[in-house]
Amino acid sequence: MPDALWAALGRVQDPEIRRPITELDMVRSAVVDGDVARIDLRLTIVGCPAADRIERDVREAATAVPGVASVDLEVGVMTPSEREALVARLRGTRAQQFGPDSLTRVYAITSGKGGVGKSTLTANLAVALAASGLRVGLVDADVFGFSIPGILGVEGAKPTRVDDMILPPVAHGVKVISIGMFVEPATAVSWRGPLLHRTLQQFLTDVWFGDLDVLLLDLPPGTGDIAISLGQLLPQAEVVVVTTPQPAAADVAERSGLVARQTGQTVIGVVENMSGGVFGSGGGDALAARLDVPMLATIPLSGPLREDGDAGSPAVLAHPHDSASAAIVTLAATLGARARSLAGRPLPLRVE
Ligand code: ADP
Repeated sequence: MPDALWAALGRVQDPEIRRPITELDMVRSAVVDGDVARIDLRLTIVGCPAADRIERDVREAATAVPGVASVDLEVGVMTPSEREALVARLRGTRAQQFGPDSLTRVYAITSGKGGVGKSTLTANLAVALAASGLRVGLVDADVFGFSIPGILGVEGAKPTRVDDMILPPVAHGVKVISIGMFVEPATAVSWRGPLLHRTLQQFLTDVWFGDLDVLLLDLPPGTGDIAISLGQLLPQAEVVVVTTPQPAAADVAERSGLVARQTGQTVIGVVENMSGGVFGSGGGDALAARLDVPMLATIPLSGPLREDGDAGSPAVLAHPHDSASAAIVTLAATLGARARSLAGRPLPLRVE
């Protein structure tokens, strides 16, 4: 009987850490006494949405165990040394989660200027990759925008701190972290390079993403400090440049691509967004030709893509049949397949 209770609790996950609570040493004791399940939980912190959810899930899981009529649940908080042990265990021995040994594929999404739909694309791409079964993280490093939390419907969400480890909120299966979660947006835009660099560095070290298949970064538009920091912090990042169809837009976008190259990154392709309609066409192709990279996707102008972004409900889930959603899902399949092939196949194969 206690084993059945333990097994039931093993199916309850910490929503942020995404591991069973039994593996995280959060269950101090769990016994069935007559028809009462007596459970003593110790959480990393109490009184947060994650804690409420764990409590609810634990009650539900215990009640479902045959022979249990009621649940007597005690909820406490880990001691500092218990938390330290947990943090050390989660971190494992890897000092740097996106270091040279990491199998995580890193894609940085950039653009020449603001307003081309870079954040909308990045957020939907992350959700589509997660929906395809990959483990996905998203870093919103666009200090001028911070629009990612809004598009994913987690505006106001705060990361959970466990000592010096930061657990990112999870939105639609994506672990997402944004500078906007730490500061008032108005202060961040005036940050100087060194502070931005340190913050990005902290995102990549102190924020615990766990093992990821794909990490996406929403970079600020243009060729600023963040792009250069990224080159130093994540030299393996592969860059996707987003542009609109106007041929003139390709000029500024080309500069972003060239800076990425100068900092040692690989530009893997171009995405043309807002195709069709008043913006004309050709910008994406022109840019791809100038950077000598492929066009990865053409995303049409789409009412649902914009409206769902404003509503915090990503279009790839809310309107999967919309043509822009479909184009983003196809792009996700392309980028996701590259991620898998890297993990599974060390040598590139060519099919003749
Ligand atoms: P950026 O990150 O490049 O500054 P955003 O993602 O914030 O741009 O998008 C700017 C505006 O354009 C938003 O209102 C967004 O909803 C809208 N938008 C983005 N892509 C499309 C599209 N394909 N069709 C229609 N509206 C779009």
